[in-house]
Amino acid sequence: MQERVISLRSQFQSDLKQVTLSKEIEQLKVKYLGKKGPVQELMLHLRDVPSEQRPLFGKVINELKEEIAHLCEQALESFSGVEQAQQLAQEKIDVTLPGRRHHLGRSHPINQMIDESLEILCGMGFSVQYGPDIDSDYYNYEALNFPPDHPARDMQDTFYLSDNMLLRSHTSNTQVRVMQNHQPPLRIVAPGTVYRNETISSRSHVFFHQLEGLYIDKDVTFADLFATLSEFFSKLFQTEITTRFRPSYFPFVEPGLEVDIGCISCHSKGCRLCKHTGWLEVAGAGMVHPEVLINGGIDPEVYSGYAWGMGFERMAMLRTGVKDIRMFTENDLRFLAQSG
Ligand SMILES: [Zn+2]
Repeated sequence: MQERVISLRSQFQSDLKQVTLSKEIEQLKVKYLGKKGPVQELMLHLRDVPSEQRPLFGKVINELKEEIAHLCEQALESFSGVEQAQQLAQEKIDVTLPGRRHHLGRSHPINQMIDESLEILCGMGFSVQYGPDIDSDYYNYEALNFPPDHPARDMQDTFYLSDNMLLRSHTSNTQVRVMQNHQPPLRIVAPGTVYRNETISSRSHVFFHQLEGLYIDKDVTFADLFATLSEFFSKLFQTEITTRFRPSYFPFVEPGLEVDIGCISCHSKGCRLCKHTGWLEVAGAGMVHPEVLINGGIDPEVYSGYAWGMGFERMAMLRTGVKDIRMFTENDLRFLAQSG
């Protein structure tokens, strides 16, 4: 029995040396001191020992039991200290590291242009109306004095969805709808996306953004149109802008006009932006054609009005110096982060 105690002790000590984790010490303790363990087994064998030797062997076994328990306790303490230090090292937070940067969102340069334009125009008494992107041939063309097969339809390459339905080629599709639903005086602007079946290049795209302006009242004249656009462009480009009209042709206005502003880059001295003319073309305009007023249910003998249309991409390109219209739809964050 003495030998058994000695061999158990040395076996335990060698087992203890193999241990690397605190939970293994717990397992070791159970293995040696548990109910079915070798120490308990020794206790059972005490019965076979002559009675005069029993107290001595009982003491020896108890000492072994206490020793194992004590060594386990000691090892556990030292392991838990090491493991805690390891855990702390793993979970260490370096407070000197730079924080994660949060990128601030901002509105798209075209939306900024639209928002600014609407703010200015609403301040001048216009209210905002929206027309549908998918519309009938009637509102996009026929009601605007483009009869079927009219050559002016070729000015805008249109995406037809069926014989009668199309993707609007201009925001002017809002005009007659608004006239049919509201009584003059009318003073509205209608921003939105328009679609043209054109080859995509640095200067043209299959969709872009326009704004339609419409004012109908008694005794509306050219002078009103001129004053409105001069004030609008001066506010938009934040400088005193010279405006000029040139005769042009659009079926829904009579007379029709191209609107130019004095070059914002060279102040009309001549530069690459204005192709050395001193002027930049920014809008199409005119006095609303009597036929269009009639289609909108408005008497042209009583009322007159003006309308204009302009492209936001064109204006954003003029203001920011961006030379390629495709930049606005490529969603390159480096480009988008520069605006605003
Ligand atoms: Zn210029």
